[in-house]
Amino acid sequence: MAIKELTLPQRLILTEILKKYLNRSHSKYPILEKDLAKRWAGYWGELALANYVKELPQEKYLILHDLQLNLNDIYFQIDTLLISQTHILIIEAKNIIGTLYFDHVFNQLIRNNLDGTEESFEDPRTQCRRLQSLLARWLIQHKLIFLPIDYLVFFKSTNKTILKATGTNTDTTRICKGRDLFNKIEDSEKRYKQVRIQPEKLNEIAHFLLSKHNPKPIDILKEYDLTETDLHYGVQCPSCTHVPMNYQRGTWICPKCSKPFKTGHIEAINNYFLLIKPTITNHECQTILHLPTSDITRKVLISLKLPTTGHTKKRLYHQWSGSKSYLITEETIRKER
Ligand SMILES: [Zn+2]
Repeated sequence: MAIKELTLPQRLILTEILKKYLNRSHSKYPILEKDLAKRWAGYWGELALANYVKELPQEKYLILHDLQLNLNDIYFQIDTLLISQTHILIIEAKNIIGTLYFDHVFNQLIRNNLDGTEESFEDPRTQCRRLQSLLARWLIQHKLIFLPIDYLVFFKSTNKTILKATGTNTDTTRICKGRDLFNKIEDSEKRYKQVRIQPEKLNEIAHFLLSKHNPKPIDILKEYDLTETDLHYGVQCPSCTHVPMNYQRGTWICPKCSKPFKTGHIEAINNYFLLIKPTITNHECQTILHLPTSDITRKVLISLKLPTTGHTKKRLYHQWSGSKSYLITEETIRKER
């Protein structure tokens, strides 16, 4: 049973938003595009894994996707966590295309590219062993009952991912691709047969983990060494993606394709809250939306019914709290791609 469903990772959402406001000619734009391709691939890998684990017996496993915990200021993230009465299983999803060699001599993953070059990655099992150790310490710190922790590395199944192993000690017990995941989970069940906790306790642990889900705050501008001045801000045209749209008699009109967009400011202001800071002044709003006067800006801001503090020129408009309707959703981003 899924206790925590998989949703679009926040870093991916923020990078997509940042891309909207960065000019194509900006030196960071190609880096952003490359990172986005990697992040989407990573997400598709996690999604494939999440779809497979849905097929597991619902009563046997409690499942948490993209769980983020903090151990003494060390943030760590687990793609999928399965908890049963006998053990805990960490599953890390990988979505790497190419012929991949597990080098057991130097513990690295080598990709052979079509152009004859080679690329080296950290062996995902090394990453899993780190997570295994961090989670064990985290459970001890929270005085939770001991359950053995094991791990699996899952590769999204595509005909463009070929797994191979080199070296003498070719242990591939904890590596799988596609549906082989079920065989590897079954193998792990054979390693841990002893029932250690009752279903109520199992449920309690899973919900405790969920309550401690604590993502590391992301300052996406800082990560790319950008400031507000690098952004080409404004209302984005939903038809042709042009920024900025012009405000004319209560609606936004695209200067490029002439399409109207009545509520364009909502997304633009919400994106400002996500990228820059959780409050906005009249002056800041006028600047980012390219509005002609502060009176029009005030009307636009008031129409949003944002919580406010302060008066007159010092009034601060605050980010919506708990209002999902204005937040960027998985569907909106998927539609865009
Ligand atoms: Zn347009």
